[in-house]
Amino acid sequence: MTDSKRNVPQKKVSPKNPSAEAVEATSAKKSTGAKQASRVDLPPTEFATLPLSADLVAVVQEMGFQKLSPIQRQSIPLLLQGKDLIGQSKTGSGKTAAFALPILQKLALASPHLQALILCPTRELCAQVTRDIRKLGRKHPGLKVLPLAGGTPVRPQRDSLENGIHIAVGTPGRILDHINREHLDLSKLVTVVLDEADRMLDMGFEEDMALILKATPKSRQTVFFSATFPEEIEAMSRTYQRHPARITISEKTEAAGAIRQLVYTTTNETKSSTLVALLQEYQPESAIVFCNTKIACNELVEILSNAKVSTACLHGELEQYMRDRVMARFRNKSVRVLIATDVAARGIDVENLEIVFNFDLPSKPDVYVHRIGRTGRAGKAGLAISLATQRDLIKIQGIEAVTRSPLEKKSLSRFSSQKEQSPKAVFSQDAKMETLLIAGGRKDKVRPGDILGALTGEAGGLKASDIGKIEIHDNFSYVAVSAGVAKLALQRLNNGKIKGRKFRVEIVR
Ligand code: AMP
Repeated sequence: MTDSKRNVPQKKVSPKNPSAEAVEATSAKKSTGAKQASRVDLPPTEFATLPLSADLVAVVQEMGFQKLSPIQRQSIPLLLQGKDLIGQSKTGSGKTAAFALPILQKLALASPHLQALILCPTRELCAQVTRDIRKLGRKHPGLKVLPLAGGTPVRPQRDSLENGIHIAVGTPGRILDHINREHLDLSKLVTVVLDEADRMLDMGFEEDMALILKATPKSRQTVFFSATFPEEIEAMSRTYQRHPARITISEKTEAAGAIRQLVYTTTNETKSSTLVALLQEYQPESAIVFCNTKIACNELVEILSNAKVSTACLHGELEQYMRDRVMARFRNKSVRVLIATDVAARGIDVENLEIVFNFDLPSKPDVYVHRIGRTGRAGKAGLAISLATQRDLIKIQGIEAVTRSPLEKKSLSRFSSQKEQSPKAVFSQDAKMETLLIAGGRKDKVRPGDILGALTGEAGGLKASDIGKIEIHDNFSYVAVSAGVAKLALQRLNNGKIKGRKFRVEIVR
């Protein structure tokens, strides 16, 4: 599917929707930042009621956004007025569009100067936010949004900066690096966004964040989005924001929300076969399985692969390009089950996650809440399934105390008295798609339409319905194709041309 055809979750926010009602906006006093929240009349839910350009409204409609999400209806009007804001949000709340739409609305496109800077904790989140802004800005001809994350060479980033950009999305360390090397002209900066501010603090970026904010113009608009508000965030808000509006979503909605939370009791011996049985039962198209250790991840990959489950593993020691490949394949449905540790999964953003499995329960309840927040996004119902042995019951109690909602206890009785089974081919289908890697990308002026054209045109001969997500990167691109035609697609692309040029193509597994 190309961008415009992407299946975006449909957020339905009606006045009856409790999550919408639970949003509260208060004007936080600069000195204390802790005034009592007072309920205000909720603004309208339609994008068209906002003072956004017709182009921006058209784009969100094309993307399938029907109504403003709660965080958007609260924050967009304030951000358009240039106010500072500190917002409670988690991934999936629609926060990216909440800050990106006002930035795009205010952008002076004709002036190729840096006007907005977005700080994110991880490279993956930078990539995601960049993608989202480019999508929202697709009717802004000449818009330049540049990801500036660490882990990639500095020089190409510097070269891109020399050509002039409008919006930078980067990790604090690398942004500071560019500031120190005087690659970034901050003089025309209008807005600075700290996305997932609490995670940036967790990752030790406090000093970098402070140095960056100090280097930016005093006149700037400063926006913080954070899932939690530890004292360090409050302190940064007091130091770097001016009379920020505060937007919070009530605890109750945040923790449980629309996520159904199940616990299956099992034993250490039957844990993996229970997981296989649950995958068989629920048949998720995309699910993430959390383990507490890398060793457990590796063992599970082997067990699931033997059971013919389409699996990939994400652990901290993978090279960055391999992590990117795994994530691209997971996003485009070439992999159904992603196995990850918390560290490896940091910052990954995937949409439409049907199930989050806790193969191992985390010791801390907030890690649990963070993990399961990856399902049930933007109004879609989510499912979180945890496997618990007798020894984990204490962890369950801790989680229930924090989320203030009991988890549904379930058991797979046929496993309770059995030893580890040898799992057979249990998934009724493998992944729907396979991924082709094309050695040409944005820098070669390759666009999604070119790839689509090469595959479906006369030379390609494939059906458009067999082509899935197309992701264009700087020097390469991924295209998902139906698994049944992957070899044919490879052959066609290798024999044919894209935009009149030959590019090397391979299947990524
Ligand atoms: P985010 O919280 O920014 O990571 O957004 C989560 C997902 O929700 C993304 O896939 C967005 O494209 C989508 N989204 C954002 N706003 C809306 C909306 N108002 N209606 C439907 N989907 C939305």
